[in-house]
Amino acid sequence: MKILVLNAGSSSQKSSLYYIPNDERSQEVITLLWSGSIDFSQQQGVAKLKVESNGVVWEDKQETEDRLVAMEALFKMLCEGDTAVLESWQEIDYIGHRVVHGGSEYQQPTWVTEEVKSAIAQLISLAPNHNPSNLQGIEMMETLLPNAGQVAVFDTAFHSRIPTTSAIYPLPYQWYEEGIRRYGFHGISHEYCAQKTAQLLDQPLSNLKLVTCHLGNGASLAAVKNGHSIDTTMGFTPLEGLMMGTRCGSIDPGIIIHLLREKGLSADEIDQTLNKESGLKGLSGLSGDMRTVTEAMGENERAQLAFDTYIHHLCRQIGAMVASLQGLDVLVFTAGVGENSAIVRQAACERLGYLGVEIDPEKNQNSPQNEDIATPDSSVRVFVLHTNEDRAIAQTVWQLAQANSY
Ligand code: ADP
Repeated sequence: MKILVLNAGSSSQKSSLYYIPNDERSQEVITLLWSGSIDFSQQQGVAKLKVESNGVVWEDKQETEDRLVAMEALFKMLCEGDTAVLESWQEIDYIGHRVVHGGSEYQQPTWVTEEVKSAIAQLISLAPNHNPSNLQGIEMMETLLPNAGQVAVFDTAFHSRIPTTSAIYPLPYQWYEEGIRRYGFHGISHEYCAQKTAQLLDQPLSNLKLVTCHLGNGASLAAVKNGHSIDTTMGFTPLEGLMMGTRCGSIDPGIIIHLLREKGLSADEIDQTLNKESGLKGLSGLSGDMRTVTEAMGENERAQLAFDTYIHHLCRQIGAMVASLQGLDVLVFTAGVGENSAIVRQAACERLGYLGVEIDPEKNQNSPQNEDIATPDSSVRVFVLHTNEDRAIAQTVWQLAQANSY
C-alpha cells in the first residue's frame, strides 16, 4: 500500500510517500520512498521546491503563488528524473492529511467526506493559521488524485479524553458549551512518542506515567496515563502553555485587557505580538531559534535571560503535568529543540533532580536518537526521541484502510 502524507502549513507544505505491505500485520514494516517540500516563505511570489529520494536531492524554484501549480511541479518528481519512485500517480492508494483542529467532534482519524470538509472549514475560526491550509491541501489532492482515499488525522484527537476539570476554563459555563475549552495540539507527536517509548522499554503503555515534551518552534507538554493524554499545556489555541520560539505561552489575561484599553492596540496587533514577536525572540531581541539564543548567551544578557526564562517555564509546567499524573516514570524530549539541544535538556533535568531525574551528561551531550539518557540510578527514565508525525499518520491511514478491507 502506498500512502502519501501531506502536512500543509500556512507558508510551507511537506509531503512524504510511504510503502507499507498490504498483508503485513505489523505496520512497523514501513519504508519512506520519497519526500518533498514547498516553501513559500523565503521570497514573495516564489515557491522553493525540494525533493529527496533514491539518495538524490533535487531543488528548484517556481515563480508562482498558486499552490496547485507548485504542488503539480513537486509531484511531477514522483515519476520523473532521478527522484522518480512511481510510474504514475495512480499508484498512490491513500492520502493522509495532518489537520490541526478537529474540535470536540473529531476524536479519531476519519475518512474525508463533504461533511468532514465542512467541519474543518467551520473550525477555521478556532485555528485560523492552520485549518485553511489543511483544507486547501485536501481539496488540491481531490483535484490531482481523485481516486485515492483521503484520511484526516487530527492533532487535537489524542487530547480528546482529558478530564473535564482539565479541559474546562473557569469561565461562564455557557462558553464551555459553545466550544471555549482546552483542545491541546501536537497530539500526533505526543501519541507517537508515548507509544515509541513503551516499545523501547518493552512495557505496555498503559503501565506508564509519561510527560512528553514536544519542543519545536511551537512547544507543548502532554501528561500521558493509561495510554491517553490526561493533561496538556496548549489550550483553546496553540498560544497557551510553554514559552516558545516566538509565542508567549501562558500570560495573565489581564495584560490583554490592559493592551486593549491603555495602549489602544487592535486584536490583530496583539495577535501578531503574542504569536510572532514574543517568546525567545521577544525576550532576547535576537531570534526565536534556540540555536541563535544559546550561541549568544555568553556575552548577551538578554539571550541568557530568554534561555533561563524558557527553562523556568518548561520546568514549572513539567511540575504541573507531574501533579496531574500523580507521579512520573518517563520524561521524553522531542522535536527540534528537544531532540537537538543538549543544554536545554541538561538545564531542565538538573532542576528536576527533586523528582529523582538524573541524566548521564555524556549521553545527553551526544543527543542520541531514540535512547534513554538517564543514569541507571535515576528514578525516572529520560528519552530523546525523534518524532515522526508523517510516519505516524501513514501508520494510522494503513490501520484504517486495513480495518475497512477486512
Ligand atoms: P516546528 O515546530 O516548526 O516543526 P521543529 O520541531 O523542526 O519545528 O523545531 C525547530 C526549532 O528547533 C528551531 O527553531 C530551533 O530553535 C530548534 N533547533 C533545531 N536544531 C537545533 C539544535 N541543534 N540546537 C538547538 N535547537 C535546535
